Amino acid sequence: MSLRISALSNIPATTDELGKITPKITTVFGSHVFNLKTAREYLSDDAYKSILASMKSGQKIDRNVAANIANGMRAWAESKGVTHFTHWFQPLTGTTAEKHDSFFTLKSDGTPIEEFDGAALIQQEPDASSFPNGGLRATFEARGYTGWDPSSPPFIIEIGHGRTLCIPTIFISYTGESLDYKAPLLKSIDALNKAAVDVCNYFDRNVTKVTVTLGWEQEYFVIDDGLFKARPDLIMCGRTLYGHNSAKNQQLEDHYFGSIPERVYAFMRDFENECYKLGIPLRTRHNEVAPAQFECAPIFEEANLAVDHNTLLMDVMTRIALRHGLRVLLHEKPFAGINGSGKHNNWSMSTDTGVNLLAPGKTPKSNLMFLAFFVNTIKAVHDYADVLRAAIASAPNDHRLGANEAPPAIISVFIGEYLTKVLNDIKQRVNNDMDEQDESMLKLDIHKNIPDLLLDNTDRNRTSPFAFTGNKFEFRAVGSTANCASPMTVLNTIMAQTLKNFKTEVDGLIEKGEKKEIAIMQVINDYIVSSEKILFEGDGYSEAWEKEAEERGLPNLKTTPLALDAMVNEKNTELFVKNGIYSHSELHARHEIELEKYIKKVQIEGRIMGEMATSMILPPAIRYQNLLAKNIKGLKDAGLTEEAYANQKQILDKISEHINKASDLVEQMIGARKKANAIEDTREKAIAYEADVKAKFFDQIRYHADKLELLVDDKEWYLPKYRELLFLR
Ligand code: ADP
Ligand code: MG
Repeated sequence: MSLRISALSNIPATTDELGKITPKITTVFGSHVFNLKTAREYLSDDAYKSILASMKSGQKIDRNVAANIANGMRAWAESKGVTHFTHWFQPLTGTTAEKHDSFFTLKSDGTPIEEFDGAALIQQEPDASSFPNGGLRATFEARGYTGWDPSSPPFIIEIGHGRTLCIPTIFISYTGESLDYKAPLLKSIDALNKAAVDVCNYFDRNVTKVTVTLGWEQEYFVIDDGLFKARPDLIMCGRTLYGHNSAKNQQLEDHYFGSIPERVYAFMRDFENECYKLGIPLRTRHNEVAPAQFECAPIFEEANLAVDHNTLLMDVMTRIALRHGLRVLLHEKPFAGINGSGKHNNWSMSTDTGVNLLAPGKTPKSNLMFLAFFVNTIKAVHDYADVLRAAIASAPNDHRLGANEAPPAIISVFIGEYLTKVLNDIKQRVNNDMDEQDESMLKLDIHKNIPDLLLDNTDRNRTSPFAFTGNKFEFRAVGSTANCASPMTVLNTIMAQTLKNFKTEVDGLIEKGEKKEIAIMQVINDYIVSSEKILFEGDGYSEAWEKEAEERGLPNLKTTPLALDAMVNEKNTELFVKNGIYSHSELHARHEIELEKYIKKVQIEGRIMGEMATSMILPPAIRYQNLLAKNIKGLKDAGLTEEAYANQKQILDKISEHINKASDLVEQMIGARKKANAIEDTREKAIAYEADVKAKFFDQIRYHADKLELLVDDKEWYLPKYRELLFLR
């Protein structure tokens, strides 16, 4: 019996978990987190103050105090049954990394004790030579260090009865270059904080800190684990390389927001409960558009914490699903022909005086502040659309952008009808020479209606990659497997740079004797005018937009190898270096790493594609071909006329054709791969893998294989079909 058939007959109806009572969320929330409340309980006054100062203003923690903190953490962790600790970091592989050490150790006389010293809390040196480094570390100095990030609280990962204390850390090379997602993110948050505080101070002197906020929405698929195991493509690549569309997919739209299937529901409750213990504030769960597709979203948090929580969530979900005989597919495009998965990044900034800088506010003063930040964001995206696109470029996201209900690869900004009008009004007024009288008008007549209007009336345009949604911008082009730190780092940096320019320009006008408000308004107006072409309110999925975008001169880079160029061009290098986010060599290393990731992913897909064709798709097809041939021969031998086996012959013809074509194409693809592999230059190689391997062969090979799927005897077919993967759970 094939794996497919046995998996099909073993799909459980539901799981026992359904019978479990979910505890009241507030009673478990954060129970596995060393948060401030726990810190207060387990730390001395000095240690507590030190951790607080470090969280609030990034103050360095003294080594002596660190020893004290480590002791307190261990005491807390041991009270929860923890035996090991690990530095938890986010290398550029895209997953999280950990290396566990026990608290247990031996004293010099052999006495066993448990300890966690301050040095081990602050810094570790994992043997990290095999993490991607883009040439930053020669193997002779292949050391990498992890360093504690006190702004994200330690937490306990629980697997069965095993419990490990995880310390969020950054990961840097021996020579200080960042090798992870977190270090640059923290730098970008800091850069934006400084630039934003300066601009806030035009309006409110009391603002001393601006926090970046992020609320992600995670889309994912859930399928039966048995069926998953019968698909080498899912196991190796996270997406199906073969599979004919099922007769029904999402056209009836009966899955979206429908009732959640029982087994999936049990799984959701289970993983949500784990998330609550870890302090991940999940709020929303629902079915998404495609069959077997779902989404969850938390309450937004400070960006660094939100990023940690999202990477942690992906890990938790994947693990917990197995308990329910299910598999989570986080890939951007697990199934051809239906919706892919994204991870909307809702982004805003808020002040330590409690103001959301992208909320339109009620008073005229804060309105002008809102307008400044709102328009600066548009300008930032306009000026740096290319690097924002690069930040979300990956092999899997290429399948999604511009395909089936996903934003295009063209970056544009949607702001809605009302704010479009506001911006047009500003343009008119400022251009008609503002005078003193206008200054009062500046204290705009937009102030009363905006909040209500926007929030009730968010004429949301679902097709925009970057949309204003009432009190935040939503970056929708981010892929579902992405580490949000990548787009967030870029967004923070381009915003920081734009705000810095803004301040310089406003100050320049003030120095020339212009009144502050008028100066601000004038620069806002300049920004509106100079970034107009990035604004688009229409249907982002349409072909008409592709044409118009081209006329407007907006880039439309559909493939990762080319989209990544923007990371290292002159303008963007200056952007990152000047703002202290990446050094020149860090940028080039990252570019190299992203290209290598791309190459490897496509390479693995190519290999699996070939292997599956020859070992899983052609064999049942050839068996069926034989059967038909025998049948025809039998009928012929029995003296029947050609008419009697005409249909069999027709099927046989088709099968033979698809077998031959698929087989030929696989051979050709192998040749193309060999050629690509011989290319030295990483960028050229990535381009070759895209154009000469993937684009040229994948769809074609698949076409013939999928045709065979429709022709060959169903019970002989090895690979679980789309209808089974998508509808049985
Ligand atoms: P959608 O309609 O796109 O599904 P939701 O309203 O469900 O949007 O989700 C909005 C997301 O935006 C949530 O994750 C929420 O936490 C987040 N969000 C709300 N306000 C802010 C903010 N000020 N900063 C960042 N994220 C925010
Ligand atoms: Mg959304």
